Amino acid sequence: MSDYIAISTLNDFIFCPYSIYLHNVYMETDEMMYHATPQTRGKASHYTIDHKTASHRADDLLSLPVYSDVYGLMGKIDVYRGKEKLLIERKYQLKQIFQGQIYQLWAQMLCLQEMGYEVQSLAFYEISTNKKLPVALPTAQDLLQFQAFLQRFRNFDPAVTPFTLNPNKCHHCIYSNLCDKTNDDNVYT
Ligand code: SF4
Repeated sequence: MSDYIAISTLNDFIFCPYSIYLHNVYMETDEMMYHATPQTRGKASHYTIDHKTASHRADDLLSLPVYSDVYGLMGKIDVYRGKEKLLIERKYQLKQIFQGQIYQLWAQMLCLQEMGYEVQSLAFYEISTNKKLPVALPTAQDLLQFQAFLQRFRNFDPAVTPFTLNPNKCHHCIYSNLCDKTNDDNVYT
């Protein structure tokens, strides 16, 4: 399973590929060491899903582990509404939807489909405003781009793959206190 990419890391890879390396180094350590405020709140918003308390509908699937052999992905979905064939990802707050977050939703969809579930629509659900934000299903061209993105992810080698440091990102990065690429603290400390 080592070649499988965790769906939850796709958005982080777009934010900064080096953060995936740091995540892999520190994921075995005490989570309190590096969890900054936004991530802690994000984890809390997933609590009800992970403990399967967010829905009582018999046809809903909550927090289901999913995988795709075709795309080499593994992870978990938030909510799949069986009656509507709707896949939902909950976020505490969504001021803006990033491409990586859409990739994560597509990845969940591809896994579900490979596991035999039909998905007819996608959406984010913003907990803080109680709003549902629909997301388009990927086109064939979108899926080609997504596959190319997964290849870039697999090919990334922190020792040799060049990347450009963005100080503004470092200031908003939960790993900045642990990162050897910057001496700056993040804004959450
Ligand atoms: S601190 Fe900067 S370079 Fe290091 S992982 Fe975060 S964004 Fe990337």
